[in-house]
Amino acid sequence: MLLTLSQTGPQAESISFLLHKHPANLHVVELPFGNATVFYTETTDEKFTVQLLLAIDPVELVRGAQQLEQYVNDRPYVASSYLTVAMGRVFGTAMAGNCKKRPELVDTKLPLTVVVEVIRSLGGEQVLHKLFEPLGYKVSVTRHSLDEKFPEWGESPYFRLALEANATVRDTLTHLYVLMPVLDDQKHYYVGDAEVEKLLSRGEGWLNTHPERQLIVSRYLKRRVSLMDQAFARLLSDEVEDTDAAESQAEQSGIAEKELERPLTLHTQRINLVATRLKELGAKTVLDLGCGEGRLIRRLLADRTFERIQGVDVSHRALEVAASRLKLESMPARQRERLTLLQGSLLYRDHRLAGFDAAAVVEVIEHLDQPRLLAFERVLFEFARPTHIVITTPNREYNVLFPTLLPGKMRHGDHRFEWTRQEFEGWAFRVAERFSYTVRFEPVGPVDALHGAPSQMAIFVLGEGGAA
Ligand code: SAH
Repeated sequence: MLLTLSQTGPQAESISFLLHKHPANLHVVELPFGNATVFYTETTDEKFTVQLLLAIDPVELVRGAQQLEQYVNDRPYVASSYLTVAMGRVFGTAMAGNCKKRPELVDTKLPLTVVVEVIRSLGGEQVLHKLFEPLGYKVSVTRHSLDEKFPEWGESPYFRLALEANATVRDTLTHLYVLMPVLDDQKHYYVGDAEVEKLLSRGEGWLNTHPERQLIVSRYLKRRVSLMDQAFARLLSDEVEDTDAAESQAEQSGIAEKELERPLTLHTQRINLVATRLKELGAKTVLDLGCGEGRLIRRLLADRTFERIQGVDVSHRALEVAASRLKLESMPARQRERLTLLQGSLLYRDHRLAGFDAAAVVEVIEHLDQPRLLAFERVLFEFARPTHIVITTPNREYNVLFPTLLPGKMRHGDHRFEWTRQEFEGWAFRVAERFSYTVRFEPVGPVDALHGAPSQMAIFVLGEGGAA
């Protein structure tokens, strides 16, 4: 498989400094699955072209494999995770943004072109455009043709991809590094926690604002739900941090509120809405049930009217991340005293949940097996029995408006159900009646006339019994 990078225009040799590869030499690196060779095919005043050729050893690839198809496959020819591993090895320094000899070049945008000779693109040509264009590339795609004698083979899934941009070498390599395996949608190695780190660090500065970030994260992490959760939680909390920072900056410099009103993600809107309602209800002590990585907690801590906040989650890992994101260790004592994080399940009676003014259960119920909702209802409404309960859950009707969601699919691999507005309201009314609460409803996020809002919220108040 072959990757070609060129720089055109004056000082075209810059690229050789950035890549740390002398134009006169052939650079060969041995990898567990083959050899990577870097060489230059053009070194004129006007244009430098460097090629990365990865020769995969097909026998090495399938050591121990039993089946023929594992010997006869497209891996040696198609740009894939093998190529990105090779890129990491041969261009790692460039991707890290190090260039001792010419440090000023690292952040210099250069006229670059990239050609990936053969890439599979799950979802076709359109996906190539959707992934690279938002990053500022001019994208040209040619579909490789299959043998004309066999029309029944259909269209080839392989493309030649050419990109052009005025960009830094570091960014361009990084984009390829992340997006090639996303296009190919296969990885030859185990995808675990380390991949989340890799994705977030390589994606820094661009992934968060990429319109296809959902697709990128899910394919990069091979749709492993727990990993996707981690990645999204961190991308989103970076967003909250950015928003917080922008807000405090705006406050200091007196920028008009309107300037601040850039679009917030749905989750940020949801968290803000829940916090606002809790405050209006006069809650001073709040349970955050299924607190996950602590986004609501963070928002509540920022408001002194909330005197005591207790986050509960069944996932030890989520609580660890919450503790680290909330910087629990270094939190000032006065703040720290207001917060407790507990591991616990919402399906078992727990005396530690009693005695709070309010409970928030944000995007949690849909993670519970439906038959176990009965247990959850008793734990919360009968035993914990706070005065106010705010519950949010997706509105399934809205799913048709998500462009990347396949029909009939749920938004998240761990969702056990997603309710329509009627289903949610029906459930909430029954629960309210049974446990003597009143309930009202509110949409969360932008409301579509036909399908409602993406998420829905029920606010229960202890007391009057039955529906409000
Ligand atoms: N409320 C958070 C997290 C939502 S994700 C937010 O809005 O950001 C759902 C969370 O519910 C996960 O953190 C999951 O670990 C937790 N959860 C799922 N089942 C649970 C149970 N039985 N008891 C407690 N928490 C549970």
